[in-house]
Amino acid sequence: MTASLPNSRSIRAPRGLTLNAKSWHTEAPLRMLMNNLDSEVAERPEDLVVYGGRGKAARNWESFDRIVSTLKAMDADETLLIQSGKPVGVIRTHADAPRVLIANANLVGKWATAEVFDELERRGLMMYGQMTAGSWTYIGSQGIIGGTFETFVEAGRQHYGGDLSGRWLLTAGLGGMGGAQPLAGVMAGCSVLAVEMRAERIERRIESGFLDKRADNLDDALALIETARRSGAPVSVGLIGNAAEVYEAILSRGVMPDLVTDQTAAHDPLHGYIPAGWSIQDWEARRESDPAGVIAAAKATMARQVRAMLAFRARGIPVFDYGNNIRQMARDAGVEEAFAFPGFIAAYVRPQFCRGRTQFRWVALTGEAQDIAVSSSKLKGVVADSSFARWIDMAETRIRFQGLPSRSYWMGLQDRVAAGLALNDMVARGEVSGPILVTRDHISSGSVASPNRESEGMLDGSDAVSDWPMLNALAACASGATWVSLHHGGGVGIGYSQHAGFAVVADGTPDAARRLSRVLSNDSSVAVFRHADAGYEDAIETVHREGLVMPFAMP
Ligand code: NAD
Repeated sequence: MTASLPNSRSIRAPRGLTLNAKSWHTEAPLRMLMNNLDSEVAERPEDLVVYGGRGKAARNWESFDRIVSTLKAMDADETLLIQSGKPVGVIRTHADAPRVLIANANLVGKWATAEVFDELERRGLMMYGQMTAGSWTYIGSQGIIGGTFETFVEAGRQHYGGDLSGRWLLTAGLGGMGGAQPLAGVMAGCSVLAVEMRAERIERRIESGFLDKRADNLDDALALIETARRSGAPVSVGLIGNAAEVYEAILSRGVMPDLVTDQTAAHDPLHGYIPAGWSIQDWEARRESDPAGVIAAAKATMARQVRAMLAFRARGIPVFDYGNNIRQMARDAGVEEAFAFPGFIAAYVRPQFCRGRTQFRWVALTGEAQDIAVSSSKLKGVVADSSFARWIDMAETRIRFQGLPSRSYWMGLQDRVAAGLALNDMVARGEVSGPILVTRDHISSGSVASPNRESEGMLDGSDAVSDWPMLNALAACASGATWVSLHHGGGVGIGYSQHAGFAVVADGTPDAARRLSRVLSNDSSVAVFRHADAGYEDAIETVHREGLVMPFAMP
């Protein structure tokens, strides 16, 4: 089978209450797969690419069509198996089992390299699923904005006494994930200068309300930032350019940002990072004719960018890697000290992971925006976290929906369960127009092994142990999630991570309430166990506070 050819059809998830499949449990994955490929949501839907370099929703269009037709025909006791974006079988299970099980891009350890994967992909045998692309739970840039906001707020707390006003962040990459940075920064109170090679990405973020302004040269960009700094009203600016060149130029002018990071798709040196001095056209053409040359040139430019980031750090500016593996790529290209600055998880997110705080994402499967408005309002009275109401208010004014309406927020164990049950109850009472899907990102505390990111610098040195995402996925299956996925290589690239995700349909039934309660509490529990087992005090306290059963933490 050959790789997919570009395809001009436009995909959009069905709306309303009319089912195309036999129940909401197969209709939900069908709608979410299609939603992932909605042109409002996906970065390159014609190639089935959802986000994150080449993170795809299905291996090729033939696989997409067969997934859709199979989901439509499946009964309530059947489960579809997806192997790297291709439907490979349907097995007889039971009503509480997942309706879809997904494994994407997994390779046996010794073979888990980008070279082996690229060759298998070329031969049509595998697909890169990123995190939520291949697990059909991507909701556009808003899916990442909560985590990005939390990261910037925590950076502000650690470095600037919790006040980012008058400060600015230098970053790069305005793709599917990176496009959340400007809005998250402004919501957290700081200005953002984001360098991006593709003009159309800048325009797209402006259209979606994630970016305020575009600048065509560095002088204009810095002038906009300076005006915002003086006025105290933060602004986000997208600057056309190559990140390495612009970072070097800012350094040579002696201009000092207050925070520095990067979110180009550096994890994929063949498809995700444009070398300095190359036009987009050269880059695209040479990817086919000279892949080794492209990889070498991309890594050489990443080395320049990381050297510039290290120079900012030497001037006392907090610098962090935003989960794209740029430090590793730079080290491969000879920058020995690339890991001198931390990854964002180790620096700013791990304390939340230890408390089992992780993402809660919900989607109105009927497409009714009003369902998100009324459910958000209801959840304000359910979620104990006092920042939730403020986040919802900000999200409602600043974050537009892409595709099916949805919201997300980071919540602790009790809040996640309470929120899931409240949503199911709303469906049962008819307070929303139809079923709601509850899911999360793969970036979560117990579901990712990623030694350069989520599990970087673990207290007990267990960074590379990937038993945890396996246990997380198995726990989601045993708890009755509607679909479960186990991936390799998301975020940081092939060979560097393994991670799991799930989705559960809240259809208003008592069965759904039981599944939601089990899936959400067990997902958070695995997260707490993972960190308690590594020796984090906060996590051990959470085990006791939440009454979790952990044999080695018992008196
Ligand atoms: P994407 O492929 O959609 O976008 C990357 C963007 O970077 C593109 O718009 C591209 O034009 C731009 N770019 C590439 N090289 C450049 C250069 N040299 N200078 C300026 N711009 C350049 O990827 P994405 O979905 O935005 O993800 C970005 C990275 O973040 C990936 O490595 C991804 O794995 C990682 N990631 C981050 C998180 C997170 O928590 N934020 C989560 C998952 C993945």
